[in-house]
Amino acid sequence: MKYVIGNWKMNGNMAEKDSLLKSLKNVRTDNKVVICLPFTLLCGNTFGITIGAQDISEHTNGAYTGDISGAMLIESDVKYVLVGHSERRFYHHETNDIVKAKATAAIQNKIIPIICVGETADEKNAGRTMSVVKKMVLESVPKSGNYIIAYEPRWAIGKGVTPSANEITAVHETIFKTLRGIKKENTPVIYGGSVDAGNAGTIANLPHVDGLLIGRASLKSDTLLPIIKTIKE
Ligand code: PEP
Repeated sequence: MKYVIGNWKMNGNMAEKDSLLKSLKNVRTDNKVVICLPFTLLCGNTFGITIGAQDISEHTNGAYTGDISGAMLIESDVKYVLVGHSERRFYHHETNDIVKAKATAAIQNKIIPIICVGETADEKNAGRTMSVVKKMVLESVPKSGNYIIAYEPRWAIGKGVTPSANEITAVHETIFKTLRGIKKENTPVIYGGSVDAGNAGTIANLPHVDGLLIGRASLKSDTLLPIIKTIKE
């Protein structure tokens, strides 16, 4: 079983969500498919498809205007939540500490956090990918509980470029060894960044790659369904 997790970001409306989830309902796959929707699309019919959110407050409740708590997400039957996506880290200045607190809040509410890590182009060019990713993992993961790590090189997201197969394998191996060092070697590690039907099968079958996180190509069934079908369990 591989994870196929869609990230709609700030896109879509109710009709488009219904249309995609309905089309997924008829797909026969052993892969675990999850669609992470904007907050406003989390309510309503899910047509039996697992849904996720794109952020969670680190707080339980109170004066945090605009934030959404884990208890609120549960009311919408949310099972997964992205935390520390590079767009949150960049536009909302989320640090590893904040990401860790959000992941902890998710686990406390029985929601599985998908903790995103990845280097910038400058960090890659300076040869710092492994040290940056390792530090992000160690500082962002909660003390206990189950989570997923998503390796998303920031320079690959939405750019139509991906690391080579060797580069992805090397980073995923580093993440695996980092997790093994804290006795969390069974943690799934997925790859995200410009995945499409053309590269999904190859990337998903690389060593230590347990699935894919998909942005743009998850918005429509004609780009998402071929990805799901191409991945061998
Ligand atoms: C993402 O932002 O999580 C992502 C993977 O985006 P894209 O697939 O569009 O590069």
